[in-house]
Amino acid sequence: MARVFNFSAGPSMLPLEVLETAQKELIEFGNSGMSVMEMSHRSPVYDAIIKETEANFRKLMNIPDNYKVLFLQGGASTQFAAVPLNLMKTGKADYVVSGQFSGKAFKEAKKYGDAKCIATSEDKTFSYIPEITPDMVREDADYVHVCYNNTIFGTKFPEVPNVGDKVLVADMSSCITSEPVDVTKFGVIYAGAQKNMAPAGLTVVIIREDLMGNAREDIPTMLDYKTMADNDSMYNTPPCYAIYIAGLVYKWALENGGLEAMKERNEKKANILYDFLDNSTLFKATAEKNSRSMMNVCFVTGDADLDKKFCKEAADAGFVNLKGHRSVGGMRASIYNAMPIEGVEALVEFMAKFEQENK
Ligand SMILES: *Cc1c(COP(=O)(O)O)cnc(C)c1O
Repeated sequence: MARVFNFSAGPSMLPLEVLETAQKELIEFGNSGMSVMEMSHRSPVYDAIIKETEANFRKLMNIPDNYKVLFLQGGASTQFAAVPLNLMKTGKADYVVSGQFSGKAFKEAKKYGDAKCIATSEDKTFSYIPEITPDMVREDADYVHVCYNNTIFGTKFPEVPNVGDKVLVADMSSCITSEPVDVTKFGVIYAGAQKNMAPAGLTVVIIREDLMGNAREDIPTMLDYKTMADNDSMYNTPPCYAIYIAGLVYKWALENGGLEAMKERNEKKANILYDFLDNSTLFKATAEKNSRSMMNVCFVTGDADLDKKFCKEAADAGFVNLKGHRSVGGMRASIYNAMPIEGVEALVEFMAKFEQENK
């Protein structure tokens, strides 16, 4: 077996133990006589799987009882529309545009109401997180939307933004379960699962109960949080297999110390990389120091040809998917929960060697 160190931004690495369990259970799950892929989502066996998945997710994230957890499809991108369709009561919402995905969310919201960009970091190619204060938020806005970790630019909110008593909605696709978060500070948290939790196909939404039931009348049924909550995410067929894998990932995270331990490990990994970058004469981190992401570390040499050479030689040495997003270039090392510390240490060693050879 030759597994590489995979720095993909998503879909991305899953814990090896999870893949091994899935492999063992692939052909027959328990004594069910069938694979999870072949089961009715309404069967008692599957019901136990989805319930256990939700219970472990709630435990891991410390989700209070007055929040619903929804297992949906359509990716985080579908939530860009679902959020305004469900939450725009007065028709106004405020957006922080700190990268490409939050820009897309803002653009989508404008289709359904009066969406306003209250802060952006576009002036410096999204290399930092703009400061947010409660007075920036419109008094009659229904919610404030942020992208908590900007996957493409490698920045993250250093703390939960202060939006006063406004409902805070966060796209946490690329940082969910990477560290503890105080769920009570958010009205809605959503995430495509393929970065840090599961294979692609599953989108997780955490929503405070009182925020449901205010959707526009013409909302597509499939996007209505209330419909999905009333039907325990089974209004239609959910992404059964991805939910099962997410369940294994949550169990793995709990068995490995929960989110406090994930944070400690993730900080250690990110620090190894950023410390190297800050002392390198060839490579340079692109995100400003107080806005740096622990999950997506973006860097450049300053020379596009050299970047290309680096990505190629790295891939040949077993460090794959280091090429930056097609819209920004450079390099990006995505180091989600499943990336072991050894992977980051080996990468830094390789980078030091490359630096020596390309002075
Ligand atoms: C990947 C990503 C998205 C898009 O997710 P899809 O599941 O592909 O729709 C949105 N927001 C963030 C922060 C992401 O990292």
